[in-house]
Amino acid sequence: MEQNNIELLDLKGLGKKSLLYLNKLGIFNINDLLTYYPYRYDVLKTVDLNNAVQDEKVIVCGVVETIPTLIRFRGNKNKLTFRLFVSDMLVKVTIYNRGFLKHNFEIGKIITVIGKYDSKNNTIIASDIRFDELKEVKIEGVYSTTSGLSKKSILIYINEALELCNNIDDYIPEYFNKKYKFMNKLDAVKIIHNPSDINSLKQAQIKLKYEELFIFMLKIEYLKKNREDSIDSVLIRNIDRTLLQKINKLKQELPFTLTNDQNTAIDDILIDMKSNKRMNRMIQGDVGSGKTIVGIFACFINYLTGYMSAFMAPTEILARQHYLNFKNIFKDYNIRIELLIGSTTKKEKNKIYDDLNSGNIDIIIGTHALIQDNVEYKNLGLVITDEQHRFGVNQRANLKNKGIMPDVIYMSATPIPRTYALTIYGDMDLSNIKTRPSGRKKIITDIKTNKEITDVLKLIKYELDHNHQAYVIAPLIDNDIDNFDNVINLQKQFQLAFKNFNVGILHGKMSNEEKDKVMLDFSKNKTQILISTTVVEVGVDVENATVIVIFDANKFGLSQLHQLRGRVGRSTLQSYCILISDNASKRLKILKECDDGFKISEEDFKLRGSGDLFGIRQSGDMKFKMADLQNDFKILLKAKEDVEYSINNLNILNDEKYINLLNNVNNLD
Ligand code: ADP
Ligand code: MG
Repeated sequence: MEQNNIELLDLKGLGKKSLLYLNKLGIFNINDLLTYYPYRYDVLKTVDLNNAVQDEKVIVCGVVETIPTLIRFRGNKNKLTFRLFVSDMLVKVTIYNRGFLKHNFEIGKIITVIGKYDSKNNTIIASDIRFDELKEVKIEGVYSTTSGLSKKSILIYINEALELCNNIDDYIPEYFNKKYKFMNKLDAVKIIHNPSDINSLKQAQIKLKYEELFIFMLKIEYLKKNREDSIDSVLIRNIDRTLLQKINKLKQELPFTLTNDQNTAIDDILIDMKSNKRMNRMIQGDVGSGKTIVGIFACFINYLTGYMSAFMAPTEILARQHYLNFKNIFKDYNIRIELLIGSTTKKEKNKIYDDLNSGNIDIIIGTHALIQDNVEYKNLGLVITDEQHRFGVNQRANLKNKGIMPDVIYMSATPIPRTYALTIYGDMDLSNIKTRPSGRKKIITDIKTNKEITDVLKLIKYELDHNHQAYVIAPLIDNDIDNFDNVINLQKQFQLAFKNFNVGILHGKMSNEEKDKVMLDFSKNKTQILISTTVVEVGVDVENATVIVIFDANKFGLSQLHQLRGRVGRSTLQSYCILISDNASKRLKILKECDDGFKISEEDFKLRGSGDLFGIRQSGDMKFKMADLQNDFKILLKAKEDVEYSINNLNILNDEKYINLLNNVNNLD
């Protein structure tokens, strides 16, 4: 059977309840299940107990000497205890809360026990018992799971599915399978879940990584080709002299002069809009380089040529900030600008929906609320996505636009090294804003230990006394993304230390309205110190803030620290970034020396382990199941080359398999 013809519920022992758990893990069909790969592997090998030290993790095989005694405790807890002969030693084994295993024990049977050895009491506190003998070294995949579903049952389902399948779609063209002597896809998947040795596991991984990257690059090439080929849906815009004059007039009205790079980016946009190719442009610019104003000009051009614009930001705070910014820039214009965010009242929302639907709005600014199902646009000509890496896949596809395909601009403050940009943003055109607005001073970055905290407090005091403001970023604690306790504690401490000032607090557990209010208070200087988690990380713009103190700075990624630092230095005032850490890592030293976002992201890319690309949450299609862009970059480049060959020489785009694969690919953002 092909994997597509089997349902999850066809699997033995998989009921409705397990199905819900699998759904929770993102597994909705057999294909999801088969590609639910182990996140790591354990190598199981038995040890000699005679040499084991206190509390060592051990794996032993032995003969069951006594039937276990079961002791029950309150709260449904229990303990099994039995004796086991391990070669010439008799040990006691205890395992908690596995009372249900009692009946599996037989005296004289060989079993495998995994646990911690308490040599003083000659006891193994077991974490797992297998009722067979571990004959040689065994490699076992470890799956992440959710409570209610054991790791073992995931593998059982996977293996059942594998038994039913006699074929799995392989998207590597036969030509390259042969060329690289890749193993068969079904075998590769089997080995990934049940590896017998390291060598074949590696081969299987390479096969699946290559396939994943091949598909990824194929989608990118396809999108690019598609965009170049489809002129039918292109917007008709009249870009003439009067329009250019209006643009120049707006430039004159700004309180500042645009930088060369900003002007070039606006020109790029004009050229795109004039051409008969749909715009798909990424504007990369370091934090504080002034991307928003470029976006504002794009909306202005779009407005002047008769279309509606949508400007999407990742957080409500940011959406509101953009909204106020737009309102301010266009205060003397008759342009209808609205804000649509989650906390917009229902009544207001309905009014806005109506206006979007009938084309009564010129520029709509908002969050994800802009792409809810019930929002329909009339004449939407431009979509701008700010901090694009924060959004998931196919969001633009969700924009229900009547008739036309809008132009698209993405803005990102996490610059990506050119080689990488060429591949992962391969279907986009790039504008880079490298220069910062003139008059900005370099942010002074320093690393301080916890003992030197009084110096830091003095600096904050000095800045506050000069009517400036400060951010204090709460340390990260593992497993607690919100850092709730930390921000609360810090607020208390700072309020004590700075009695004459107001200390605000911002964290992820607050409602959106609360967050907005806190940000508003801070931007109006009603609070002078803002204690926050990383929610202030993106985009927030308060010019008067001149200090940012980041506790436990070592725990943050390089790009993330650079983003946080970008909260200050947003005016001509001298600003400071203080990183608190008792042992300064290489990352912190790089940050201290360097303020070029492009360089920093390159360093980050080099330093960072697998997974988390550029310190930003990856969106949908960029989240690979097997490959990772850093370690497998060479495979990616190969795949890119091979995709081009496959399109040009193997004609794969006419092959039904690939047509189906690419059928619903609209974009990769
Ligand atoms: P980012 O690129 O990080 O999104 P913003 O667009 O928020 O940066 O701009 C940062 C600040 O710089 C804003 O307050 C903006 O008004 C200001 N700004 C933008 N361009 C210029 C310029 N050419 N000269 C002076 N200030 C500018
Ligand atoms: Mg921004």
